[in-house]
Amino acid sequence: MGAFYCSVCRKTDFSGKGHIYGKSHQSKLKVILVKFTEKVKEARRTIKNPQVEKYSPHHEEKFWCYCCALEVQKHVTDSNISVLYGGLLEHMSTPEHRKNTHKFWWDNKAEPKLRDKFIITEEETERFKSEVSKALEQFEEKEDVLIKQQAAVIRSQEQHRLEVLQSLSEVCFPGMLQAILFYFFCISDE
Ligand SMILES: [Zn+2]
Ligand SMILES: [Zn+2]
Repeated sequence: MGAFYCSVCRKTDFSGKGHIYGKSHQSKLKVILVKFTEKVKEARRTIKNPQVEKYSPHHEEKFWCYCCALEVQKHVTDSNISVLYGGLLEHMSTPEHRKNTHKFWWDNKAEPKLRDKFIITEEETERFKSEVSKALEQFEEKEDVLIKQQAAVIRSQEQHRLEVLQSLSEVCFPGMLQAILFYFFCISDE
């Protein structure tokens, strides 16, 4: 028996390995696993239905993997488009994470039934990848439509402006026209 650091309780214990069977350790473990399960459940929901969004700074969020004792990027982003939970799912599919999860469960005597919820299988990864590529395509199509719509609005505004100018130039004297143009551009640029 000797001192060892418990990453669940975040303290060094001098009673040796017996610590993990203790009430305090097991109840802390339960709390951690409940929270962890919630996060992983949320992420798992997106395997069949990935969430693709325009980049936002909160997509830089990280999550703490208890199994690996490591901070991991929660989402995947290229600073333009983000795939939510992509980082978490990718991490949980790695061989290192699988190995660490098995070790964590063994070391902490955690509930065996829960263990595989924290591991993303190869099939799930494949499914996620193919759904993500579809979702990215759809996202880009939507963006294209939006850009075209915006362009059409700008074109029609310009057309309207030209028409107004045209009709003004037909009825006004040049000096008056200049004053009107100035006023017209000031208000229409708002
Ligand atoms: Zn502990
Ligand atoms: Zn991990």
